[in-house]
Amino acid sequence: MINNLVKENIKSLVPYEVKECETVAKLDANENNNVDYLLNQKIAKALMGLKVNQYPDNDCCELRRILGKQVRLSPQQLMIGCGSDQIIALILQAFIGEGDKILVHTPTFGMYKISTQIVGGTTIEVPLGEDFAFDYYNFVKVMRKEEPKVVFLTNPNNPTGGVIPREQIIKIIEYSNGIVVIDEAYVEFYGETTMDLVNYYPNLIVLRTLSKGYGLAGARVGYAAASKELMGILYKVKPPYNVSNLSQLAAKVCLENKDVLDRVIQEIVAERDNIALQLSEIPDIKVYKSHGNFLLCRIGKAKEVYQYLAEHKVLVRYFGEEGPLKGCIRITIGTKEENQLVIKLLMEALGATK
Ligand code: PMP
Repeated sequence: MINNLVKENIKSLVPYEVKECETVAKLDANENNNVDYLLNQKIAKALMGLKVNQYPDNDCCELRRILGKQVRLSPQQLMIGCGSDQIIALILQAFIGEGDKILVHTPTFGMYKISTQIVGGTTIEVPLGEDFAFDYYNFVKVMRKEEPKVVFLTNPNNPTGGVIPREQIIKIIEYSNGIVVIDEAYVEFYGETTMDLVNYYPNLIVLRTLSKGYGLAGARVGYAAASKELMGILYKVKPPYNVSNLSQLAAKVCLENKDVLDRVIQEIVAERDNIALQLSEIPDIKVYKSHGNFLLCRIGKAKEVYQYLAEHKVLVRYFGEEGPLKGCIRITIGTKEENQLVIKLLMEALGATK
């Protein structure tokens, strides 16, 4: 009986599933395993004595003030969310309904499509080109034909690690008759941002998260930047008190310790390039150039390799044996020890020696 009551567009959805198991190296979700122990202590200390009997600041005023200074925008141009996942859902709630279209490149982060299905919209997918390079001409061609209300560009892209040249992003924003969202979840590992464009293009939203570079995945804090006009619309659909005061305070400590985190991020970037080189020397592994805190690898026996790693309590992301990511695994860059363990196990699994 209940199933007859469910909206048609929800019926085919499956709950978001996350593998929960004991690990010695958790390298499946692009978190930051290198966060400074002292910073975690600072967060814990700041949280001591925090009162939780009253609701948090509804609009995250202090966080937006600090962030505004860092990204050189006014606080009215910013919104904080319970992870950038929540902001993606809010954008779609505000702009997409039955029959409306969004445009994405594929493969990419899965939540754009899922959140679009929830609100009854349709996702148009433009495949990435050879070696997962962004296919600008095809993307623009499809955008002109389909007239999507919202376009998502993930830069750097998850799970491929590729990037889109700035000139191409600008042209897409200019040619689009809808909203363009640039998801910069991994920007700290890349260094090139489009945040400065927010003041020039009223249809642009730049999305960021503190879950990756800033090592705060557990607190669920993301944010969006846009023109005041566009933000005014997004605030209409924001649920009250959407970020807990625990999370707001933890985020504040992270932002105030930006210099410490920037050093950690630089170390991860150097380690990523070093590990990419080591992996590419192993026969049977193709490593894609990455600008994130992870490496996408295509492996002959990906399933067996994934299982071998899992048996040794090392968790990476495996994409199955169908579609453009067939035979691929994605490895988050962890601590130096975790990374060496992955390389050792990969070589064992593939029977390769150095
Ligand atoms: N965008 C991209 C590209 C991602 O990879 C992720 C997390 N995997 C998110 C957004 C969501 O991040 P969060 O909700 O933790 O801010």
